[in-house]
Amino acid sequence: MLEALLNLLFPPQCPACNNYVEHNGYWCDSCLSRLLKVQKLPLESDLGGVFDKGVWCLGEYDGILKKLIADVKYNKKKSAIKAVQYFTKKGMEKLEMEDTELITAVPLYESKMKARGFNQGVLLFSPAVSARKMDFSEVLKRVRDTIPQFNLKYEERQKNVRGAFALQEDYVHRIKGKNILLTDDIFTTGATFFECGKELKKAGAASILGVVIASGRK
Ligand SMILES: [Zn+2]
Repeated sequence: MLEALLNLLFPPQCPACNNYVEHNGYWCDSCLSRLLKVQKLPLESDLGGVFDKGVWCLGEYDGILKKLIADVKYNKKKSAIKAVQYFTKKGMEKLEMEDTELITAVPLYESKMKARGFNQGVLLFSPAVSARKMDFSEVLKRVRDTIPQFNLKYEERQKNVRGAFALQEDYVHRIKGKNILLTDDIFTTGATFFECGKELKKAGAASILGVVIASGRK
């Protein structure tokens, strides 16, 4: 009721071109087909060894998508959350992942989690994951602090995150033989993603598929 009234007063608009759309968070078809670029990322061999089903990316970390993700992380902007959730759901529909048994995300530090109140990976993938009648499992945890990655080179990033993750006690014996999907919002060098994937492989995962919303890699 309230939504219907709000939609009447403020008709929902596509986040990329401002054309009117049916519901809040929806993108118009032409922007969606232009910006949704589901592709398997080229990976270094160590990464490829861990992600045997590849790391798939839904769009380019640029323009409106980059802006929306920043609005989610730093401003908790509701319209941005809905827009990226819709984008992610549409992108995930293009992926084959029928044999996925467990879905998890790169964990945040506890301090960051408290400050932000949510893990953006989990938040942004949630509608896509529930559309597949699945839930997120909190498989991994951070076991030591790392410094922010953005000013570091790849080797420094690798060093920075090495050994920073471990399995949650509940999952130590529940990974063996499972097909796992690991998600994150942005993929830059992949150092953090790789560390998480390595832990899952060490615990005996049968296969790992990575999905990220956006990446600057081509
Ligand atoms: Zn549009």
